[in-house]
Amino acid sequence: MNVKAFFLVAVLVGSFVGSAYAGTNPIVGMPDYNGTYYGTPSTGGNCDSHSINCDSTVGRQMFTALYRDNYNRVAGCAGERCGKHPGVDIDVESGTPVVAAMSGTAVRVIGNDQCSSSSWGGLVVLEVNNPYKAGEKAYVSYVHLRAVSVTQGATITQGQTLGESGDATSDACHGVSTGSHLHFQVDRQHGGPYPWFPTGRVDTADTDFEVTAKIHNPLPFVLGYAYNFTFAENGNKELWGAANVTAFGTANSDLWVDGSSVYAYVGRSSFFTEATCGYSDGKPCSREITLDASVFKRLVLRLNFKCIANPVVIYYRGPDDVWHAGSFNYDSARTYVLGMLGLPYWNGIVTDLIVKPSQGCMASPGPEEYFISQMYFLP
Ligand SMILES: [Zn+2]
Repeated sequence: MNVKAFFLVAVLVGSFVGSAYAGTNPIVGMPDYNGTYYGTPSTGGNCDSHSINCDSTVGRQMFTALYRDNYNRVAGCAGERCGKHPGVDIDVESGTPVVAAMSGTAVRVIGNDQCSSSSWGGLVVLEVNNPYKAGEKAYVSYVHLRAVSVTQGATITQGQTLGESGDATSDACHGVSTGSHLHFQVDRQHGGPYPWFPTGRVDTADTDFEVTAKIHNPLPFVLGYAYNFTFAENGNKELWGAANVTAFGTANSDLWVDGSSVYAYVGRSSFFTEATCGYSDGKPCSREITLDASVFKRLVLRLNFKCIANPVVIYYRGPDDVWHAGSFNYDSARTYVLGMLGLPYWNGIVTDLIVKPSQGCMASPGPEEYFISQMYFLP
C-alpha cells in the first residue's frame, strides 16, 4: 500500500443515530470512547503513564488506560493491541459513586473489612446476562474501590450504587494501582477467576490475543457504541491515515479526501508507524482498534460524497490475520447503517479499519471527492 500522507484531524462528538444502550455508565459523566491514545479529549489519556490529571487541557474524565493498552507508553506502543491491560481505567476523583452498569448478582465482593489487604482493593464483580449473546454470562468488575456498599450474593439492579472509587495516595483500599481511577472490566464467560488479569506482561503487546480471549471491550456494554470517529473540531485530534490521496483536509465537520487516479483510502490501522504519525517528541501514535465482532454488527457511516455511483468498501483484518473486505452500495449523501454480519471473517476479533469511499471515483467538479462526517460501530 502506498501511503502518501498522514494527518491529524479533529474529533467532534456529534449526535448519534440509533444508539442502543445495553447498560448504564458505571460512573457519572463517563465520556465517549474511540480507542484513541494521543487524541480526543475524554477518549484516551494524553500522558505517559498510568497517571492522573496529567493533561490540563482535557480535564480528568478520560480513559488513562484503554482496552488492551499498556501503562508504559513511552516505550513506543499504544492503542488496542499494545498491552495486556484488560478493561479500561476511567480517570475520576476519589469518592466518585460507582453504579451497576447492568442488573445481576454480586458473585465476588472484597468489602471494606478486607480491601486494604487485597491487590484489587475494594472489588465488586457482577454476574450478568450478556446482552449481546443469549445464554452467555458476562462478569462486570469494579476495581480499586475505597468503599463497597453491597455484599456478596446480593441481587443487584441496574444503576444501584456499589461503592466509591478510590485513590492510591489518599485511600486505604486502592489495591495495586496508581492515581485515582475506576478500573472497569467485563470478562467473557471463560471459567476462570473473575476478574481475570494477566500474571505479567501488562506492557507487552497482546499479540497472542490472551486478553481478547477472556475479556470484552467493556464500552459497548454501557455505551452501545464504542468507537466514534468524527472530524473537524479545532484543537482535538484523531489520528487517521490516508493512502493514494492528492490532498486532504476538513471542511465543516467533514473529512474530505481528494483521490488520485488510484482509489483513495482512509484508515486507522497498523500500517501507520510511530515514525510517521506526526508527533515530533517521540510519542507513539494512536492507531489500531479492536472490534469484538460478536458485539459490533453494524457500522454507521455519515457520508456526503460527490461520488455516489460506486460502492464504499470496508477493509479489515480478520482473526486469520488476513485482510478482508465488504462492499456496500449507496445512493446519496446521508447516514448509512451497514450490516457487518455475513462479511467474510467478520467474527471473533477483528482489527484494523480502512474505508475506501468509492473505488475509481473522480470528482466532477472540484477537488473534494470524498466526504466522511462520522463513523462509529453499533452492536
Ligand atoms: Zn486498570
